[in-house]
Amino acid sequence: MSKQKNKPRRPAAVTPASPCPCGRAETYRDCCAPFHQGHATAPTAERLMRSRYSAFAVGDTGYLLRTWHPTTRPAGLDLEPAQRWTGLDILGATGGSAFHAEGTVEFRAHYSLHGQADSQYEHSRFVREGGQWVYLDALPSA
Ligand SMILES: [Zn+2]
Repeated sequence: MSKQKNKPRRPAAVTPASPCPCGRAETYRDCCAPFHQGHATAPTAERLMRSRYSAFAVGDTGYLLRTWHPTTRPAGLDLEPAQRWTGLDILGATGGSAFHAEGTVEFRAHYSLHGQADSQYEHSRFVREGGQWVYLDALPSA
């Protein structure tokens, strides 16, 4: 028998059957992929935030721009190719349900860059535009 299973694993490539990068207990295919592919829209601000984190992880800049409010959206987005997104902690959320027009999500996004582990904290604001949740901006840190 070959020892295939002991081969070193290549890091970070997300496949449809991978655990979703956003940290929910579902595969990428059943979690954030339908949002990225435009087959569905995130039902809550938190799901949108998670799907945007996943979009960073899979390098989907089109999705990031498309889910950015037109008033704050940058003209373009260059992702750091050496950055590996390693996990997401949702720390809190307000509003953001199907019954709200606004919501906030507080999170810490973990990554490694050139082998150095680090994380980024943000308290983000989201609004519903034409029925779809979009990212507005970050609240100033307290
Ligand atoms: Zn997901």
